[in-house]
Amino acid sequence: MERRKFVRGAGLAGILAAGSGPAIVHAQTTIRWRLASSFSKSLDTLYGVSEVFAKHVSDMSGGKFIITTHAAGELMPAFGVLDGVSTATVEMAHTAPYYFFGKDPTYALDCAIPFGLNARQMNAWMYEGNGMKLMREFYAKVNIVNFVMGNTGAQMGGWFRKEIKSVADLKGLKFRIGGFGGKVIEKLGVVPQNLPSGEIYQALEKNTIDAAEWVGPYDDLKLGLNKVAPYYYYPGWWEGGPQLSLYVNQKSYDSLTPEYKAIVEAASTYAGTDMLAKYDYRNPAALKQLVAGGAKVQRFPKDVMEASFKAAGEVYAELNATNPAWKKIYDDYITYRRDANLWFRFTESGFDDFMQQQKL
Ligand code: CA
Repeated sequence: MERRKFVRGAGLAGILAAGSGPAIVHAQTTIRWRLASSFSKSLDTLYGVSEVFAKHVSDMSGGKFIITTHAAGELMPAFGVLDGVSTATVEMAHTAPYYFFGKDPTYALDCAIPFGLNARQMNAWMYEGNGMKLMREFYAKVNIVNFVMGNTGAQMGGWFRKEIKSVADLKGLKFRIGGFGGKVIEKLGVVPQNLPSGEIYQALEKNTIDAAEWVGPYDDLKLGLNKVAPYYYYPGWWEGGPQLSLYVNQKSYDSLTPEYKAIVEAASTYAGTDMLAKYDYRNPAALKQLVAGGAKVQRFPKDVMEASFKAAGEVYAELNATNPAWKKIYDDYITYRRDANLWFRFTESGFDDFMQQQKL
């Protein structure tokens, strides 16, 4: 009683003088940060994950750590967020790192590479394997601290106006394809286009492009891609489990207290888990809706898959010979890909194959 009265009466200066300073000072500091997303507001999955993250940071900090979220184009273009965080124009960004493969293909290893890891495997590599450690080393060069914040799960292969019967049908096709997949598919004669979400529908509608992939049923339905192309191909072999990342400017991150750093880590992990749950729960219903609306769901022909796999191997061999940063991380990634596929073949695939053949 006496002590409480003393503390109340003494004010902040008194508390500091009493030696219980730092934690109290930090807890009372309100921080306001901005997060630039690479995604459009209409996508409650990809953009929404940033809102979920910001809400959790605010809740966990008792409303003292406020992050405002901004859609692509609001503060900077969708693909401008890497530079935005690197130069501290904003403190944070949420993006698909493979958008920056033109600067360095190594960024794609923090997201997805053709015939790479699925969502479960990506998580394992990042959190339990060397993924996070290696990517942090790489991002340090651009003053960014990266966190895993979401995964879409394996994607669909996209919307095509014409049927793809063999590799020959890909020649000259102008195809909007996410990030690094374009590097591989151009070896098959495709002309890849790296458009942000807000520009895809219009480009396809106006015939600027012939085909487009975005994510999967739930998002694609929102973008209206089914209205402008009937053939819906699978699987999106360039995105078996694309991971989204939260970028934090290094100096901004260093200025946070250990408590706030822990909050950023916990909130990004929660938001990421929530994002994959949304996709896994909402995609089945959206796929039914698309099929009912006339979408023709088709598997990519075997020769397309095989030629693409071969082309991916060629791209990786070229990069291994010319890009040491890539090679260092890729070697670790690909070793785990081999082991993971050996293991998942027995368990996940063995179980899923049986279940999917049953009348449920
Ligand atoms: Ca995609």
